Amino acid sequence: MKGFAMLGIGSTGWIEKEAPKCGVFDAICRPLALSPCTSDVHTVWAGAIGERHDMILGHEAVAEIVEVGSLVKDFKPGDKVIVPAITPDWGSLEAQGGYSMHSGGMLSGWKFSNFKDGVFGELFHVNEADANLAHLPNGIDLAAAAMLSDMVPTGLHGVELADVQFGDSVVVIGIGPVGLMSVAGAVLRGASHIYAVGSRPNCIEIAKEYGATNIINYREGDIVDQIMEETKNKGVDKIIIAGGDVDTFDQAIRMLKPGGRIGNVNYLGEGDYVKIPRTDWGCGMGHKTIAGGLMPGGRLRMEKLVSLITTNRLDTSKLITHKFNGFEKVEDALMLMKDKPKDLIKPVVII
Ligand code: NDP
Ligand code: ZN
Repeated sequence: MKGFAMLGIGSTGWIEKEAPKCGVFDAICRPLALSPCTSDVHTVWAGAIGERHDMILGHEAVAEIVEVGSLVKDFKPGDKVIVPAITPDWGSLEAQGGYSMHSGGMLSGWKFSNFKDGVFGELFHVNEADANLAHLPNGIDLAAAAMLSDMVPTGLHGVELADVQFGDSVVVIGIGPVGLMSVAGAVLRGASHIYAVGSRPNCIEIAKEYGATNIINYREGDIVDQIMEETKNKGVDKIIIAGGDVDTFDQAIRMLKPGGRIGNVNYLGEGDYVKIPRTDWGCGMGHKTIAGGLMPGGRLRMEKLVSLITTNRLDTSKLITHKFNGFEKVEDALMLMKDKPKDLIKPVVII
């Protein structure tokens, strides 16, 4: 079968591989809609997880099942499913401890395009189908549903990590597709002021539509200065980091109130250390918490997130700025993600 792969750091191309084999609990799927992710860009061009050779890329897909293992109970060939980016081993001790995304070791619940071939193949393998796949309800647009693989669960996880409560003032640093879902999630969680940090005009417009009350353009001045001015030097209750770099934590600590929390879902592709400003961190005693996490997968969570769409609480279609048709277009979609033209939020390939 054919797949679009990372050939090595900085290099991609089409390759031929043997079709994946189905274990007794597993499923083999063929993609119906695919979306490339900023994480694919970090993986290939920043070499963020180290060298990988001839590994099929991609971890965001809506798919049709073509085969299931003999012990799979709730899915069958022909079923349409949402495939979460993270597919843990649910029997692992880490999963029993509440951190399924780290099943088998740190970040190891992230298997697609990390430890095994991803979803940009004509066929791909999903472990523990009953626990990891989510049924796709009838009537949901495939492109909008593809946002459920990663953008929705990650953006909303940032909100969970920051523990946004009714009336909290919140900064969302980064309003690409992940940060936009954090803005939408902060609204669902009852935030009051939502300061959205970004610069691309398209993202700014959509951030307002999702409920951002203030826009902070990081290219027009230091974001800490801008936030401190807006909040009359008080800072904010919660911060979600969905963009920026290792220096963003320094900024976040400086504009966070004592007792505040930072929820990071940004994938730090470069730099060896994250610096924490000592005095702004209350010399270690400021009760300013930093939580960073990989999105949780799992069928229960995914099917709950789908229900946000079917009940019209969340409209993911606003994220999709570029649509392609045909499997081979996955290459163009990934290059678009790499180049990030100003009008891009998220591309989707319909197969
Ligand atoms: P995008 O690149 O589309 O968006 C990044 C955002 O950050 C943009 O709004 C950008 O602004 C802004 N930004 C860039 N530099 C700075 C800066 N110095 N200060 C403040 N804001 C800045 O990324 P995505 O939304 O696709 O993904 C966000 C991150 O989440 C990525 O690192 C991705 O790999 C990661 N991720 C993590 C997952 C997880 O499970 N934890 C899963 C999926 C993704 P501008 O408007 O100028 O572009
Ligand atoms: Zn992704």
